[in-house]
Amino acid sequence: MDNLLKEGKRLDLAQARRLWDLDLLTLGQAADQVRRRLHPESRVTFVIDRNINYTNVCVSGCRFCAFYRPPGAPEGYVLDWEGLAEKLGELKAFGGSGVLLQGGLNPDLPLDYYEKLVGFIRGFGLGVHGFSPPEIFFLSRQTGLSLQEIIRRLMTAGLSSIPGGGAEILVDRVRRRVSPNKCTSAQWLKVMETAHGEGLKTSATMMFGHLETREERVEHLIKIRELQEKTGGFTAFIPWTYQPGGTDLKGEALGAVEYLRTLAVSRLVLDNVPHLQVSWVTQGPKVAQVALKFGADDFGSTMLEENVVAATGVGFRLSREEIDTLIRQSGYEPQVRDHRYRILTHQDIKGIKDSPQRHREPRA
Ligand code: SF4
Repeated sequence: MDNLLKEGKRLDLAQARRLWDLDLLTLGQAADQVRRRLHPESRVTFVIDRNINYTNVCVSGCRFCAFYRPPGAPEGYVLDWEGLAEKLGELKAFGGSGVLLQGGLNPDLPLDYYEKLVGFIRGFGLGVHGFSPPEIFFLSRQTGLSLQEIIRRLMTAGLSSIPGGGAEILVDRVRRRVSPNKCTSAQWLKVMETAHGEGLKTSATMMFGHLETREERVEHLIKIRELQEKTGGFTAFIPWTYQPGGTDLKGEALGAVEYLRTLAVSRLVLDNVPHLQVSWVTQGPKVAQVALKFGADDFGSTMLEENVVAATGVGFRLSREEIDTLIRQSGYEPQVRDHRYRILTHQDIKGIKDSPQRHREPRA
């Protein structure tokens, strides 16, 4: 195994499974080598954005989710345009380049609501990194339109890229137990393949530390790697640990050591996905710094707003200045990027702040 890692050769499924036998530091060093090969420059990127969850109403009822409310529940909401405009104005003043837009699977929202939503955000001069595969799959089922048609309509409205949420573990044995009403692993991958075919870049995620085995995590990574070989459309991989607070699934949150081991295994297996992101929102700033030595080259986002993990009671928050400092303290140069991982200059950020807002409230 040591030789294989030194040579930097692609690991097959059996070899990838054997990575778990290695100790923490060996794994970290090997992952750091891959990171240096892919990113010889000594920089760590992050994006200035906010997560906007347009609705918390959801028919999926995933057992790990503390955020959703079933249709008809008194705490269910759909964001109004005024509230949304306020959030977007705030983000722009902060120099944000885009919004991570996700919501529940709300049966009361028609396709043109999503189109108006994307257009409204674009009117502020902000990018839209929006609608994870379960949302797109749900829209396709609801409207009877193909995945390709839904993606094209959203792209015409201004969608810039797709976040890799809703992947959890791409093994149906696990999905049947944690999110039985959500799209299957093949359907998740199909949405991504279709999006890549239309020229959209996407990220990929893995939420781990619940009912899956370590082998199933590796299976998940191999599925992402295989699709990436075919399409080249994934920009980044973001593994994060399940947070049990307030969920139906309950259980214990995984600790830092297993998080770092899984991060390093991800870097070693996913040799064809350019970026690997730390999850400071679940692991906290100190572990996130260590994660930069375990294969990660991206610090995620400022998350001016985050609701989904916060619903579990996990409350790490970081300002842009704190992110800068944490990256510098770890020995890297912080650089701001957009959701497509393009590096932004001070001039770009100033341009976003100064550009006029052209939004108009859409008619109901
Ligand atoms: S994870 Fe997403 S799809 Fe599942 S219940 Fe929560 S909001 Fe709904």
